[in-house]
Amino acid sequence: MQNFDSMRKRMVETQLIPRGIKDPRVINAMLKVPRHLFVEEALWNQAYGDHALPIGEGQTISQPYMVAIMTELLELKGAEKVLEIGTGSGYQAAVLAELCAKVCTIERIGALGMRARKVLDFLGYSNVAVRTLDGTYGWRDEAPFDGIIVTAASPDIPRPLFEQLKEGGRMLVPIGDRYLQTLTLVIKKPGGQMITKSSIGCVFVPLLGAYGFKLDGRDNG
Ligand code: SAM
Repeated sequence: MQNFDSMRKRMVETQLIPRGIKDPRVINAMLKVPRHLFVEEALWNQAYGDHALPIGEGQTISQPYMVAIMTELLELKGAEKVLEIGTGSGYQAAVLAELCAKVCTIERIGALGMRARKVLDFLGYSNVAVRTLDGTYGWRDEAPFDGIIVTAASPDIPRPLFEQLKEGGRMLVPIGDRYLQTLTLVIKKPGGQMITKSSIGCVFVPLLGAYGFKLDGRDNG
């Protein structure tokens, strides 16, 4: 029987802290959330490795470091409402749920949204709402959001998402083509002015939808 607690501690000590993850709240969340439960049992022994893993439907759970840096850049203090586009396994939503008041997460593939909901319920994350839709439209009934995190590659900043970001809010979007992106921090200043800052290079599966990439023969669904 593997000791998942010590695997998580090792993940934090060897993958996150040496790369500059500093926020103690983010580190505690990464130490706490049982990442292995968000992948199929056959992959549990790889769940704390320094890489993404398949979750079915041609999609992935992101590398632990990517989850940590995106979370840290949101600068959550505890009272925020955060929107995630790309629920996938539900792991990133669980990490966010440890750090803010409410997480609204949207997944376009129904089977993934349902599986994520089950794991989040099993772990008691009652502050996470999951919806199956094209998330590039955002979630108007729940807007505005203090933070927005897009966990799929986007050609640009989806306009509805920026509109649904609070003034003073922070949004993270991997921007680029389908193969390579730059993690981009978008800040909405008072008055609605947009400031963008480039962070690290990254590789995400595409954000497919009205304000993302158009669906083609390569895509699931
Ligand atoms: N955050 C996830 C996790 O913790 O497991 C990983 C997300 S995975 C890299 C990207 C996800 O975005 C996929 O599950 C994909 O189906 C989803 N996706 C792509 N386009 C979308 C859209 N327009 N709306 C909602 N989800 C979308």
